[in-house]
Amino acid sequence: MLDTGGTPLSGQVALVTGGGRGIGRAIALALADAGAAIAVIARSQTDVAETAAAINARGGRAIGLTADVTDRMGVEASAAEVERLLGPVDILVSNAGIAGSVLPLWEADPDEWWRTIEVNLRGPMLFARAVLPSMVRRRSGTIVNVGSYAGIRAATGGGFGPYATSKAALVRFTDTLAASTQEHNVRVFTISPGLVHTAMTEAIDLFRSVPESEWSPPQAAASLVVRLAANAGTALNGKFIHVDDDLDELLREAERIKVEGLYTLRLLKLGGAVE
Ligand code: NDP
Repeated sequence: MLDTGGTPLSGQVALVTGGGRGIGRAIALALADAGAAIAVIARSQTDVAETAAAINARGGRAIGLTADVTDRMGVEASAAEVERLLGPVDILVSNAGIAGSVLPLWEADPDEWWRTIEVNLRGPMLFARAVLPSMVRRRSGTIVNVGSYAGIRAATGGGFGPYATSKAALVRFTDTLAASTQEHNVRVFTISPGLVHTAMTEAIDLFRSVPESEWSPPQAAASLVVRLAANAGTALNGKFIHVDDDLDELLREAERIKVEGLYTLRLLKLGGAVE
């Protein structure tokens, strides 16, 4: 069992998209160990059932549901089903994502290219929209969108165009959403899990040569999500937080981060960033 410092999330309900495997599975297990009841949602029935069974076997409470995060009706129906079975969602982790086409645009299939935007951006938008009415009404809730440095770094060429585009948009989606939910006491964050051995990265040849020292365990992202869900980080509402960031230091510097507009997307120009 992951040591998350007791059960700060007991009585809460967490919904984790893409929780059937990889990083989402680690997040679901950690949230469960911290006391939350868990709904795991992905397309593969076997995967979501396996994660839910693993949580239930270690004394937690979990259900697995299938939905495609891009399908509005499926998202709304599954969010309603979670509320019916477990109660209103307190913590939404939009983790489901795909790497998408790595071909240059002129060789890529346009529908496949766009599909990456749909999964990585439309999915978080639809799930946030489905759970927010209840969070706003109850004046309580945390949404964590799983982003990537790929959306922050300047492009270096060589593919990942739709992935980087979707993850950049997710950062702006997060901070604009946080700005609108703040007065309702609902917090929204983007986290970056680092490079993690999962089905996604195993399918990409480029990562085969990356030394082991540059990989992060999936539990690092899971621990960060648990801390944010357990009310740490409110002063960083809307920000992009990487697993290697020292959350305590960021919180100590929260005022400076706010004033200087750090830890989000900015356009850096000669003479400084655009205000
Ligand atoms: P995996 O491929 O291992 O897991 C992805 C999960 O998302 C699976 O459970 C998958 O289930 C689900 N999923 C994919 N498409 C859909 C869909 N249309 N509807 C519902 N669920 C879907 O990937 P990772 O664990 O590596 O990635 C998780 C997140 O972390 C992603 O957002 C990724 O971009 C991000 N990330 C990962 C990094 C890494 O190094 N691994 C680095 C930076 C960010 P199913 O196919 O059954 O639907």
